[in-house]
Amino acid sequence: MFKKDFKNQTVLVTGSSRGIGLAVAHAFDDLGAQLILHGRSAIPADVLDSFHQKPMTVEFDVANTEETEAQIKDLYKRPDFPGIDILVNNAGITKDQIAIGMSPADFAAVINTNLTGAFNVTQPIFKKMVRQKHGDIINMSSVVGLMGNIGQVNYAAAKAGLIGMTKTLAKEGARRNIRVNAIAPGMIVSDMTDALSEDAKANVLGNVPLARFGLAEEVAETAVFLASNEYITGQTIVVDGGLYI
Ligand code: NDP
Repeated sequence: MFKKDFKNQTVLVTGSSRGIGLAVAHAFDDLGAQLILHGRSAIPADVLDSFHQKPMTVEFDVANTEETEAQIKDLYKRPDFPGIDILVNNAGITKDQIAIGMSPADFAAVINTNLTGAFNVTQPIFKKMVRQKHGDIINMSSVVGLMGNIGQVNYAAAKAGLIGMTKTLAKEGARRNIRVNAIAPGMIVSDMTDALSEDAKANVLGNVPLARFGLAEEVAETAVFLASNEYITGQTIVVDGGLYI
């Protein structure tokens, strides 16, 4: 289906220990790519065993700028390290509360992980992509970044920020053959959405024209599409069953 050959491509997916990130990693693995899995702590053995090609792994807290920089530097120094062709900034958290009750700590934590975290990972890799004169970056935003959502002032701000970052990096990277796009998923089945109350889930579902939650694999297909097409940059693809029509 895809013209691009992923067999000689290396893909780093942040937050790929589970959920959407893991599905994205599997999708590229199925196409023959070399994966670098990432999480805050060690990737479980059963996750590693689920890949065709043995993935490399790296662990760090994306919200910690120094740790992120040091770990990425070390990654590039590994003797078996092939470089990064595709970066998927997927790591993210929620800490929901209506705006008037939101603590400064919870606001900062979500911005630091979901927005600054993506920048922390991107900056050192973007520098390498500029030198290697190619690269694909995909940022996992959210439909909430486009439409806002009650109880998610921190998350919506971070995810909207990622869209601005995507457009800017797309402009800065274009002349070096670096494309940068975002995906804005709606409600996708994962640990993050499992944590919601049944009431909250039913409430959202009532607003989804396709009347179901999305699957992580459906987001992963979009990531593969964005990495395959070489004329799309600076865009945000909404994968939400029609929630944001
Ligand atoms: P999960 O909670 O299932 O997984 C989150 C992943 O991010 C885990 O691998 C986790 O690693 C990692 N992670 C979280 N914080 C950090 C951190 N500080 N440093 C490093 N890694 C971190 O989430 P989903 O799969 O549901 O979501 C993935 C992305 O998609 C997120 O950015 C989310 O905002 C976005 N999204 C999700 C939607 C959904 O409906 N599920 C909808 C729209 C967007 P570890 O296990 O090591 O902690």
